[in-house]
Amino acid sequence: MPQIARRILRHIPGQPTSDGAGVQLRRSIGGSPALRLDPFLMLDEFSSSNPDDYVAGFPPHPHRGFETVTYMLDGRMQHRDHLGNTGDLGPGGVQWMTAGRGVIHSEMPQQREGRMRGFQLWINLPAAEKMQPASYRDIAPDAVPETALDGGVRVRGIAGAVTIGDRALRGAVNAEHERSTDPLYLDLILDPGAAAELPIASGHNAFVYLYEGGAEIDGDAVPLQGATVLTDGDVLTVKAGDDGARLLAIAGKPIGEAVVQYGPFVMNTREEIEQALDDFRRDALTA
Ligand code: FE
Repeated sequence: MPQIARRILRHIPGQPTSDGAGVQLRRSIGGSPALRLDPFLMLDEFSSSNPDDYVAGFPPHPHRGFETVTYMLDGRMQHRDHLGNTGDLGPGGVQWMTAGRGVIHSEMPQQREGRMRGFQLWINLPAAEKMQPASYRDIAPDAVPETALDGGVRVRGIAGAVTIGDRALRGAVNAEHERSTDPLYLDLILDPGAAAELPIASGHNAFVYLYEGGAEIDGDAVPLQGATVLTDGDVLTVKAGDDGARLLAIAGKPIGEAVVQYGPFVMNTREEIEQALDDFRRDALTA
């Protein structure tokens, strides 16, 4: 079977915004309802060496109906939730939270100076899985599988399973968990001029997020700090420029259902959103 190359379809720039108690971040996917990429609802990059931009953190707040994946590059955050989970998130670590029917949690910086940098991705759940019990996984930096390929390419596997060249990489969260969105989430670290060729399941929505250096796909430059959405196909080839490149490559199977969002609640209908608000007011979101 001939392979179909994925190319750049469009770019969603990361727009400066703030969330939580005033954390400055850059939102690309999900900056507006039209900027979602099924099953992905939102992608935020936080990156600052100015404590004023992050110390206020994200005090206790609710979620229902989807999953959040936090990937830390620099700095420390502490997660606490109503289930009694406490997690320390440090450089290279991942927190995977399935809000399901409801979670109330906080995410607070554990530093008052230095650089805080990372990403939070929201992945939707299909209707049949929205009301599952909440669950939480804290994945330490050394539990995120990493492979080094010939030619100056390192790949960290956060989610999904992928074979690159003759190397099979199983992400920290993989197909065994049977997520119906089958997410692929890789962090690619390319030396200057290095190229990586990644298979990505055709029919899955996919994007890359270049956060350092420069890169091109099929001869087109990838803009920095935004979500670069790819055309359908089964293989992605990304080539680093003279300064090397660091980028996320993310893909997932579209759910194809209606999305009704009200802040931290993402359901299929308005009635379900009203139910979520009512449950939250009655202290029954997580019951
Ligand atoms: Fe949250």
